[in-house]
Amino acid sequence: MSITSERVQRVKEFKQEIFREYGYYYYVPMAEAYAIQVPVTVGCSYNKCLYCKLNQNNKFRELSLDEIENNITKLRYIYEERLDSAKRFLLAGGNPFVLSVDKLLKIADMIRSNFPKCEYISCFSRADDILRKSPDDLKALHSAGFDRLCIGIESGSDEVLSFQNKNITFSQNLDSMRMLDESNIKYSCYIMLGLGGLDMSESHINGTVSLLNQANPFELTVVTLVLFKGAALIERLKSHEFRRMHPIDALKEGREILSRLEINTIWDATHKTNLFPIKGKIPEHRVKLLKRIDDVIAEIESGDLKQYELKRWSKWGTE
Ligand code: SF4
Repeated sequence: MSITSERVQRVKEFKQEIFREYGYYYYVPMAEAYAIQVPVTVGCSYNKCLYCKLNQNNKFRELSLDEIENNITKLRYIYEERLDSAKRFLLAGGNPFVLSVDKLLKIADMIRSNFPKCEYISCFSRADDILRKSPDDLKALHSAGFDRLCIGIESGSDEVLSFQNKNITFSQNLDSMRMLDESNIKYSCYIMLGLGGLDMSESHINGTVSLLNQANPFELTVVTLVLFKGAALIERLKSHEFRRMHPIDALKEGREILSRLEINTIWDATHKTNLFPIKGKIPEHRVKLLKRIDDVIAEIESGDLKQYELKRWSKWGTE
């Protein structure tokens, strides 16, 4: 075997070893899709949101510092021929920011000593993972490289958050984002169209607009509720406690939120769960974005939308 094919084979084996616990798929923040992923936790420490089955029954586990160091050494081998471009890092897992400050600082140290061009380290976080840390902790984490965190706020409505068993409130989401602002840690947010179903849509829109207009996310990742196989929400659907929204109504919900946002951010609704993918800056592109959405809604309502778009969505709806 030549040196090149030996290296290709080793890289393949290392990748399999590093991610072997993560199951068939694992979810990364859309804003960090191109970052180098560093496994530090498996699953989500909370894992009780009704709509979520992202972690495929993976029991939450923190990797030990030895395991993390071993992964980073393998990543260093994988990226050794392009170290200069190894700048963006993502801690993999449902909410790695749950880790202790001490552990996060040690992980940052390992990443930076192996990858000297590291510009930032991102990860998913729940609001309560942030609130458990002090302002000084957050400043220390920012100095160590933590930036561009991704918070799955999903909704600003306490009614919706409570129904979906998120165990986070409007105030907690807002306080966590303010703490990040004060520590100069940038953040993106996920919001989920249709999360309140038909009955809580107004509350979902009003709460989400109100929350986001008091925050400062550099990007919003807009997704639409899908029913994951095995998600607890399916039982609520069967018992009629939750009435699911048609995709076109979810699109209208997104339109309404977009039209009322007063912040400078990026609206990224290109996620494949959305009926219509669209992305742009607000306020600069808001008028164009709204016009495109209105055109699509008119096309759908006049029956002209290509059927595959609706089929694509309905397939997702039963994943
Ligand atoms: S939505 Fe996020 S916080 Fe809720 S269970 Fe899933 S990974 Fe955990």
